[in-house]
Amino acid sequence: MDDMSTTTIEHWRGGQRWPGSGERFGDVYDPATGRVARQVALASGADVDAVVADAVVAGREWAAASLSRRTGVLFAFREALHRRREDVAAAITAEHGKVLDDALGEVQRGLEVVEFACGAPHLLKGGFSDGVSTGVDVYSIRQPLGVVAVISPFNFPAMVPLWFVPVAIACGNAVVLKPSEKDPSASLVLAELWAEAGLPPGVFSVVHGDKVAVDALLEHPDVKAASFVGSTPVARYVYERGTAHGKRVQALGGAKNHMVVLPDADLEAAADAAVSAGFGSAGERCMAISVIVAVDPVADGLVPLISSRMGSLRTGDGRRNCDMGPLVTGAHRDKVSSYVDAGAAAGASLVVDGRDVVPDGDADGFWLGPTLFDRVTPDMSIYTEEIFGPVLSVVRVPTYDDALALVNANPYGNGTAIFTHDGGAARRFQREVEVGMVGINVPIPVPMAYYSFGGWKSSLFGDTHAHGVEGVHFFTRGKVVTSRWPDPGAPRAGVDLGFPRHS
Ligand code: NAD
Repeated sequence: MDDMSTTTIEHWRGGQRWPGSGERFGDVYDPATGRVARQVALASGADVDAVVADAVVAGREWAAASLSRRTGVLFAFREALHRRREDVAAAITAEHGKVLDDALGEVQRGLEVVEFACGAPHLLKGGFSDGVSTGVDVYSIRQPLGVVAVISPFNFPAMVPLWFVPVAIACGNAVVLKPSEKDPSASLVLAELWAEAGLPPGVFSVVHGDKVAVDALLEHPDVKAASFVGSTPVARYVYERGTAHGKRVQALGGAKNHMVVLPDADLEAAADAAVSAGFGSAGERCMAISVIVAVDPVADGLVPLISSRMGSLRTGDGRRNCDMGPLVTGAHRDKVSSYVDAGAAAGASLVVDGRDVVPDGDADGFWLGPTLFDRVTPDMSIYTEEIFGPVLSVVRVPTYDDALALVNANPYGNGTAIFTHDGGAARRFQREVEVGMVGINVPIPVPMAYYSFGGWKSSLFGDTHAHGVEGVHFFTRGKVVTSRWPDPGAPRAGVDLGFPRHS
């Protein structure tokens, strides 16, 4: 980031910052102090039109750029991002609040997608069938879509855009990114790095904004596809609105991730995993574990191991080497805190109460400490709803079958994990569970960049997951060419009104 003290965060158009014509602005907080640090410009529909018009022109040229040129830019971007990773992390921590080390981890996972995209030409290779008929060959090619939109959530302001943008660009598209208005600065560091890497102006643009900008993108005839990540109600809306306007849409939604612990599991390892996956990034991860499904009699031993680890976590300013930062806004902190009230009122046993936290940070920061409930039942709101905060619930069940039934009855299907020493039980779970990403003794099973990321059920609308082969397919259209180059010495086939047959 050039200057984190700049008071208004502008859009990125034509390879530089651009104020746009919108007259609305949003507050961007420093969650560790609770103060408004900056304002972000909120794009009007006309701003979106201007950016898309540029992207159409730039995208045409970029689609014609050779694969060597495209990969040259991607390699340069990879180097630039690696060199500036601490600047990106600092921008994330300043506006999201997650601790610096976690922000660096987010950048690292984004870098892995850039590295994957450097090898995209391998996946853009078509097939070729020599001589399908006399003098006739058939081959397939994959072509870019044109202008594509990426709409991202607050919780991974660098990694989620990087799930899509490098792959879309490697495939020859122009991208318009609409980041979360809560933590928009990281996207501008990425924009600077694309420019530094030699990406032509207009191939990557950023429009900041809210529903107005999102709707303008979803309805724009020149935007051919949208990749969305956010909460389930908005994901469903984006999918329905985008597809109604003829676009290809992948819309990744919310989550309620269960970690099943069988009685034979290593309980110390399971407790470590529960705490790491429950409270990392203050629980504001779509792959956070929010429910421990403890198969009898495991809970009696596991709950004390989890709560004793929670006692040593330091909650505070992400720049001060703490374990867990604040929540993203005051409104979100209050909402998460209200779930703690609701869980206690509903009769769950409150083992650790994060409302009592004494943070290492400004008193006005958006604090809530790690919270643990035991004896949660599936009818309680702390179980039925995605809380998206540092609240971990333990649900006790009698058998493996009850655990599986609970996970499969949940409307979400993003991530899940099983902790056991029994390979057969793990393998059975992996086959029977209706969830898109499964961990076996791994609490946050985020796939590597060369696999694809995505959930099932209400955690994803559309058919295609992010990055990996599916990402390349999402950002390209297949074409099959049938060509006849007859042997110059062969007689002409002549007129034949029959349907083409092979000969
Ligand atoms: P959100 O749905 O509020 O916002 C996501 C994006 O949509 C933002 O860019 C926002 O500006 C825009 N938006 C918000 N309301 C809109 C509306 N009514 N119409 C059009 N656009 C709108 O999500 P968030 O709070 O930023 O992020 C947290 C959510 O994202 C959680 O539910 C989390 O589980 C989910 N998430 C899912 C994944 C995944 O891979 N499945 C990954 C990260 C986050």
